[in-house]
Amino acid sequence: MSTLFDDLISRYKTLNIAFPVLKPVTLAQWTLESGHGTSELASKHLNFAGLKWRSEMVGFATPVEYQAHDGQDFYCKFASLEAFILGYWKFISRSPYKGWEEHAGDGKGFIQFIGPIYNPSGAAYVKQVLALVSDATKRLSAATTVEVPATPVVAGAPAVIVIDPGHGGVAKTGGSSPNNAHSPSGELEKNWTLDFAKRTRNAVLAKALASGKNVKVLLTRETDINIGLNARANVAKSNGAKLFLSIHFNGFNGQARGIEALISKVNSNPGADRAFAQTVHDKVLAVLKKLDPATVARGVKEQALGVLSDIELGNSIATQPCRACLVELEFMDVPAVETLLRLEPPQATAAKKTALNRQAIADALADALLAQV
Ligand SMILES: [Zn+2]
Repeated sequence: MSTLFDDLISRYKTLNIAFPVLKPVTLAQWTLESGHGTSELASKHLNFAGLKWRSEMVGFATPVEYQAHDGQDFYCKFASLEAFILGYWKFISRSPYKGWEEHAGDGKGFIQFIGPIYNPSGAAYVKQVLALVSDATKRLSAATTVEVPATPVVAGAPAVIVIDPGHGGVAKTGGSSPNNAHSPSGELEKNWTLDFAKRTRNAVLAKALASGKNVKVLLTRETDINIGLNARANVAKSNGAKLFLSIHFNGFNGQARGIEALISKVNSNPGADRAFAQTVHDKVLAVLKKLDPATVARGVKEQALGVLSDIELGNSIATQPCRACLVELEFMDVPAVETLLRLEPPQATAAKKTALNRQAIADALADALLAQV
């Protein structure tokens, strides 16, 4: 038994969850998974349930590589005991467990439904958990409750951030080409930019929540469609956005490398745009360097780009509410870059690695955006 586990029980007793009747059976499950709170995954990473890393856990946990009894894998690392409790329920809300609410009326029905999905040994696992329920019930009732600090209320209107995944669809629309660069194996820039935009949105929201910043994040597209350049910029204008970030990848001769950030040549707020672009450039460069030292800093450049048109973004000589830049994250036609970031590598282990690499870059983009609001 560990005092950390006692602390977890106190916090679980105190915290409101949707189905309080499920506290004993889930605590029994955590008791089993963590060896009464003594496993390394529990003591080091506050993961009492053996939760593997899944992309839906962004904002609730961070991935950590860990050697468990069933092999090396990525697991969830939680920042606090509350984060673990909320993270467990987030994990159960994922699609493999769809329908669990219908079994939320009693602990036995719940574990009989989720147990076989959670653990391949199925019935044996359910039996092991159920054997620990009465002890868990006693421990919950004996536990002291803890003071839970009130959630801080963030005042004022949110700062709006628009993220623009470059390209999309199959036809040229309003100056926007459906796709430009492609990887050596044939993956398309439009799909890379959408993946990065969604990851960046998740990271911005998670980091804003943790730091008490009040932000709203909009994407110019959520699916594989193309939108004209003015229409993309207009999303910033019509929502009074503070920041507009267009995400792209370069392609050239299969050898050129590096990140560059572009700002508009005709510009009513060149200083503000340049500072924003430099932050994006530098934060991503630091992560890219760690992933692959062969990357290069290409810097901030001025270019005539329709998607960064001040008028379309809502800026004028009189007022400039929106700072904007376009980032070319790397040259995706280079084999080494594809190895780092590919969406669908042939092997599952490589897929996990590239997903983590993409997330690390998205986290850096989120840091750059949040540093500006
Ligand atoms: Zn592009």
